[in-house]
Amino acid sequence: LLSERLKLVASFVPDGSRVADIGSDHAYLPCYLMNHNRISFAVAGEVNEGPYQSARNQVTRSGFADVISVRKGNGLEVISPGEVDTITIAGMGGQLIRDILLGGLEKLDGVNRLILQPNVAAHLLRERLADLNWELVHESILEEDDKIYEILVFDAGNGKKPYEGLNGKDLQKQLLAGPILMKEKNEAFMKKWQNELMKRERILLSLKQADAISEKEAQVKNERDLIKEVLS
Ligand code: SAM
Repeated sequence: LLSERLKLVASFVPDGSRVADIGSDHAYLPCYLMNHNRISFAVAGEVNEGPYQSARNQVTRSGFADVISVRKGNGLEVISPGEVDTITIAGMGGQLIRDILLGGLEKLDGVNRLILQPNVAAHLLRERLADLNWELVHESILEEDDKIYEILVFDAGNGKKPYEGLNGKDLQKQLLAGPILMKEKNEAFMKKWQNELMKRERILLSLKQADAISEKEAQVKNERDLIKEVLS
């Protein structure tokens, strides 16, 4: 059975699309999409041998070997330009997801939608993809098994600048917490940012005890103040 997290990722995949799932592990996501007749073709990409073999086995067992191509390689190197129109990358840090995308920008030609589920540091994606003219069209946040996950959906840009006119703290707040998630402020959102606030308070306390008045302290204080505003 697919996790609620991956089901939510799947819900943002346009019907009939051609998908690359990068870092696919067991290839659960492409198999689920195929099982529900949601997509016509998929690439399951994996850089590591163990997960690559798991993906191959799962795809063969599910009878999808002709429509899901399991490929071993780093990031977007497993796809050719124009081969897919949708890319999913889930269950990694925001920095790694960003680096995977930046490492293969030429592969994004013809891709209309990116569905990204960073485990941490979603702000890096909001920031960088806006620069690259990808428009943030949906955000979701959910709690499953005591963890809180964010899902960010970007469509190929129409030149609209989502953060135009915002600057300073307002911009930092939206990049950190998500402009769409901040409008709704659901239970998972509030819980996440209350946790993040407590983390910052703990760090500040330990820095104080260590008498370390430092750049680090200023940075954590800034984050704490932003989070307080996000919660208010
Ligand atoms: N996407 C699945 C999910 O969300 O449940 C699996 C997530 S798993 C925690 C992350 C997977 O990404 C691992 O199987 C790892 O081998 C793979 N991975 C990490 N870096 C990668 C890269 N640069 N290119 C392709 N796969 C990568």
